[in-house]
Amino acid sequence: MFDQLSDKFDAVFKKLRGQGRLTEAHVTEALREVRLVLLEADVNFKVVKDFVAAVQQRAVGSDVLKSLTPAQQVIKIVRDELGRLMGEGEDNALDLAASPPVAIMLCGLQGAGKTTSCGKLALRLRKDKRQPLLVPADVYRPAAIEQLKTLGRQLDIPVFDSAADADPVDICRQAQDYARNHGFDTLILDTAGRLHIDDTLMDELVRIRMALSPREILFVADAMTGQDVVNVVEQFDARLDLSGVILTKLDGDARGGAALSVRAVTGKPIKFVGLGEKMDALEVFHADRMAQRILGMGDVLSLIEKAEAAIDKDEAARMEKKMRQDGFTLETFRDQLQMVKKMGSMESLLKMIPGVGQAMKKAGGMQLPDKELKKIEAIIGSMTPLERQNHKLINGSRRLRIAKGSGTRIQDVNQLLKRFTEAQKMMKKMQQLGPKGLKGLMGR
Ligand code: GDP
Repeated sequence: MFDQLSDKFDAVFKKLRGQGRLTEAHVTEALREVRLVLLEADVNFKVVKDFVAAVQQRAVGSDVLKSLTPAQQVIKIVRDELGRLMGEGEDNALDLAASPPVAIMLCGLQGAGKTTSCGKLALRLRKDKRQPLLVPADVYRPAAIEQLKTLGRQLDIPVFDSAADADPVDICRQAQDYARNHGFDTLILDTAGRLHIDDTLMDELVRIRMALSPREILFVADAMTGQDVVNVVEQFDARLDLSGVILTKLDGDARGGAALSVRAVTGKPIKFVGLGEKMDALEVFHADRMAQRILGMGDVLSLIEKAEAAIDKDEAARMEKKMRQDGFTLETFRDQLQMVKKMGSMESLLKMIPGVGQAMKKAGGMQLPDKELKKIEAIIGSMTPLERQNHKLINGSRRLRIAKGSGTRIQDVNQLLKRFTEAQKMMKKMQQLGPKGLKGLMGR
């Protein structure tokens, strides 16, 4: 996400940190570069201008430059202002407090990711213990209804059986009655999109809005379209009074213009971001965390949330029991690796740890962690269950067999076993120390 933008910010900050004493001229020069970085990322011109002015004023107008860590302070100001730009401190939660069924209407141009986002949102709401009903209300694109039905089947979330020749407003009304009679508390309306804004479509969306009074009207925006999207949001907002934006395809090589401009220009909050085609790739938008990610400062809070969401409590309990019974074996090691893998690609996870993204780039090993994991899994997979319980059984000829079986080299097998033995020793030491001993070790 925003790799180029992060790299460029990093270069500007490095220069700033490299100055012995920071003068006003240094800050002005750095901000000139920041301005270019933002314009290149396709951020709206006026937003850039206001942003730079705000940072400049805060950075030179106070005691920042006289402080002990001036560069650090300037960077912090940039971070704060980026967060503010994207709506930091505002409540972005969905407003679903109304008597059920509550309607959420998704709208936007064709291909932006409306149907996909409807599915993702339904999944998220079900996790929050709501009963969503998906409603296909796009009768113009022949495959649209079918697409949502397929998604619904995959997710095991009911989809209203819209007739392809019905009026979309009637469909929505019928779906509302259906929801009321069948215990659904949330309607998710997937409306039609066009390649460009046109009046017929807008009229239809306005009629749906009047008929159902959705609590949330979310515009689905493709981040790859850059700040152009800002104009479209404004036009939709003028007719529909949007409650927020879902920004999709942030996993791609979007430059950042949309994310950094939408809130500032239109006043509409970004409520969710789409980070992939899979149904779980939707995150609540947090302006502060996004600012940190853009500046390569990591995002530990999102990492922790991901871990909590990915780890099944029963599964964790089962693993803990196994650890207690068998100790730390190659088998339990593999279980743990698989659990980590459920959270997403290693690369994306590591980048959430402050400083790691840049370090990985310097090492030139962006692909490495995931490849390495696959290798380790293949090696462990080629062992017999008995060997996984007790790695000491693995002699020279078995090592060669395992290397052949896993498509790796004997050096790889040796290295894994060596590392594993070291890890096992460390685990034993930690267990002997117990929680009190551990604290002592860490000097507390
Ligand atoms: P609609 O016409 O607005 O309903 O758009 P769709 O939901 O059909 O999405 C269009 C394409 O974008 C599909 O191929 C989706 O898989 C893809 N897509 C949607 N959201 C995301 C996202 O967050 N990341 C990526 N990489 N692709 C997405």
